[in-house]
Amino acid sequence: MNDPVRTRFAPSPSGHLHVGGARTALFCWAYARSRDGRFLLRIEDTDRKRSSDAAALGFLADLAWLGIDWNEGPEHDGCGGGDRGPYFQSQRREIYDGQIERLLASGAAYHTDDEEPAVRLRVPDAPIVFHDEVVGEVVTSPEQVDDFVIRKSDGFPTYHFAVVVDDELMGVTHVIRAQEHLSNTPKHVLLQDALGFAKPTYAHVSIIVGADGSKMSKREKDRALRKTVREREVASSPVVDDETWAWWLESKDHQLELHAAERLAADLGIDLPEIDVHDFRRAGFLPEVMVNYLALLGWSPGGDREQFDVAFLLEHFDLDRLIKSPARFDRDKLLSFNLDAIKAMSADEFAERLLQYATDFHGDFLDVFNDRYPGDAFAHFARQNQARSKTLADPIRDGRFFVIDDDEIEYQQSKAVRKALVKGDPNGYAHMEAIRPVLEALPEWTVPAIETAIEQYAEQHAAGRLGSVAQPLRVAVSGGPVSPAIHDTLALLGRQRVLARIDRCLARREELSSA
Ligand code: GLU
Repeated sequence: MNDPVRTRFAPSPSGHLHVGGARTALFCWAYARSRDGRFLLRIEDTDRKRSSDAAALGFLADLAWLGIDWNEGPEHDGCGGGDRGPYFQSQRREIYDGQIERLLASGAAYHTDDEEPAVRLRVPDAPIVFHDEVVGEVVTSPEQVDDFVIRKSDGFPTYHFAVVVDDELMGVTHVIRAQEHLSNTPKHVLLQDALGFAKPTYAHVSIIVGADGSKMSKREKDRALRKTVREREVASSPVVDDETWAWWLESKDHQLELHAAERLAADLGIDLPEIDVHDFRRAGFLPEVMVNYLALLGWSPGGDREQFDVAFLLEHFDLDRLIKSPARFDRDKLLSFNLDAIKAMSADEFAERLLQYATDFHGDFLDVFNDRYPGDAFAHFARQNQARSKTLADPIRDGRFFVIDDDEIEYQQSKAVRKALVKGDPNGYAHMEAIRPVLEALPEWTVPAIETAIEQYAEQHAAGRLGSVAQPLRVAVSGGPVSPAIHDTLALLGRQRVLARIDRCLARREELSSA
């Protein structure tokens, strides 16, 4: 009988959880969960310069959002605990020191006599061999590995040393991690031999590449920003000091601090590419869709099945279906998965999830909305938007006109808008002028009443073409040519706002006609 499976995810908390990290965590979790094993979370925070507690907490929240729970590790929302901790490497220094003493005593490691004293492992003169579930047998000749540092001059162990000690003491049976660690594994094997430790099963999962085939990384955000800054010849930014600005512009590797990058993007009016789990969450993706999509990055359930739920993943996940070649992150595909999932929801569920999303990310929108449109208006708003939403952010973005003041409506400068207003005889303005008194005089301001009024008007004055009336009204109240059904939109906005917006659009007739 095999030992119970124990897997671990071991992030270095130096920012948010990147999709690559999330994918690794998901695979480790799925493997343990599907085999009645245990999934551990260990925070690798020995690189004190790069680690921050806030980042560690961001990681935990991102995992929890995805539904990836851990049996052992930092305590968060009912997850964590366990008796093989502490689960923060920065709190395990005595443990590492004890193991280093053993190696020093046996002669397997030695102090260097450099100015800054470190401890190095003595690398034996023999090939290093291990088996990987994804790439097969890996053989490294001893010349490729020099005696390497296991304790730095600051007294902290190196990544290699800490990871090997922790995996052993935490009883890890399967190490599933990104392929970028494959080249580290020979060192880990050497350490396991020197320390007399068991060898876990290794599975190094493929790298994730973006649309251009290069490794998907946080740098993409800076790349997108730099491109816009160069194109528009932006000379400086109030959110970045001049020195940082010059430094950042000069190299394709330099990265702005995330908050500065986000503010700069907002100033430039561009969206940054989503890279971190949190980006996707904020962009209105559903956690179950993320889990589905992440699972496909480097794993295949076989057949042509692509969309599945977590139960399916747990039933089918296995290491022998991991794929060696790079996995391409296809945002369009993710978006289409998200659209499908939104479409498949009940109206009530969509309303609930949209509300939660708006609460988390668009508090200002929600405050004004609830203030203006009481009762169950938000649920109606959600229902009207569900069919056309690819993300939870779509209704909020497209519905901004509901929460701004009448005189803040900006009319889009587009062909569609011009067509709605000035094409035809009578044109949109003329129809709006004519239907305004009809709307004003409606005995009650309800969806059916508005719908009937617009239909009758179109029947009598626009040869039954509803669009000739609906489109100019839509432009007047929203500024653009897309919104949910016109009667729903007008009913929700309220009569006063609708009339005020018609008046304003008519008043700017000349300016808009010549634009
Ligand atoms: N802390 C490492 C990282 O964030 C992972 C170490 C491992 O999985 O062995 O990349």
